[in-house]
Amino acid sequence: MRILIRNVSVFDGTGAPSVSGAVLVDGERIEKVFRGEPDDDCGADQIIDGRGGTLMPGMVEAHAHLTWGSSVEKIYHEFILPPEELKIAAWRNARVLLDHGFTSAYSAGALGEGIEPELAHAIDAGKTPGPRLIPSTLERSPEGEEGVETGDIYNGRGPDAIRAFVRHCKEQGVSSLKLVISGEDALKPDTSQDILYTDEEMEAVGAAARDAGMWIAAHTYTPRAIDLAIKAGARILYHCSYADDAAMDAMVAHKDDMFYAPGPGVCVGALEANPPPFIDMSAPKAAAAKRLAREAEIVPLLKQRGMRILIGGDYGFPFNPNGTNARDLEHFVTRFGYKPAEALRAATMLGGQLMGRGDELGLVREGYLADLLLVDGDPTADVTILQNRDRLQMIMKGGSLHKLALAAASV
Ligand SMILES: [Zn+2]
Repeated sequence: MRILIRNVSVFDGTGAPSVSGAVLVDGERIEKVFRGEPDDDCGADQIIDGRGGTLMPGMVEAHAHLTWGSSVEKIYHEFILPPEELKIAAWRNARVLLDHGFTSAYSAGALGEGIEPELAHAIDAGKTPGPRLIPSTLERSPEGEEGVETGDIYNGRGPDAIRAFVRHCKEQGVSSLKLVISGEDALKPDTSQDILYTDEEMEAVGAAARDAGMWIAAHTYTPRAIDLAIKAGARILYHCSYADDAAMDAMVAHKDDMFYAPGPGVCVGALEANPPPFIDMSAPKAAAAKRLAREAEIVPLLKQRGMRILIGGDYGFPFNPNGTNARDLEHFVTRFGYKPAEALRAATMLGGQLMGRGDELGLVREGYLADLLLVDGDPTADVTILQNRDRLQMIMKGGSLHKLALAAASV
């Protein structure tokens, strides 16, 4: 199947200015990118008239929580769902992300055992719609004393418990381990400065993950948490809100093998939330305000020093449901001083690199996988248009059309 998408402005994902032209897709990959219009129909089976819209790479969510149940289609006020409902929600959320232009997602942790490997398989096999998914574990945060049997592989203490956890995740088909290294103010007030792991546990998890060929995603707020995560070889650090100069130096020293996603979406969502009276959000709101202020200082500094900083903001709570993920681009522009094209680059090219597939994902380039969005308008002038799914005229993943709006329908 050959599809020619013509009459478009191509934003290639690198951050370079858009160029008017056309793109020919053959099977699952981009065969050719034309500057200007091609001379003929290139033997295409289908021709899509982009009507001057923007053709860009599909977006990558770097901090996905498909099992945080809430989406723009359904809000859950309870965080923990019964297993059957959890599966329904996760399957729905995968489709919701794709409906909103996210063709890849790196999971930052799940609320159920085995659910994400199963979902990732189902998506790859074409059984259910969703983004390419790096499946994760339950979020691991150890509790209690070392040597005390908790009987729970996610909370056990000591290096042996950690190694057992990594083996277990490997068997389950998990690709990325989620470690909650810093405490979380939003859940338990005044814990963000806490460190939940010992040095020995972190060394053990780093070595075990490397041996198993697995990645580590780390929830870190403080310099010490950041340091532990880096020593363990983490692929991506989330938040890092209280990083000091030394912690930023350490991050930058690893800029070629590590990523950073601050996750402003969850903070902005918490600040804007207007919960029903029986839900007390004063602690998360206070924590969010503090973190956002700090991140507004450190993100521009880290960006300037070449850190690869990604969009993705813990979406899936009732106050920031799955499907609103593209708001992060706006936050990068309004709060972190990004130019729209830089925010788009973070959402596309850098996201492809996070997925471990920078040589075939995240760019509109010949030979790359055809994960493409056709946007009605120019997101390099205004990233907020990506928040409106009706502006996404076409959503293509691996050369398959997930959506083609009538206005852009075939000629
Ligand atoms: Zn998270």
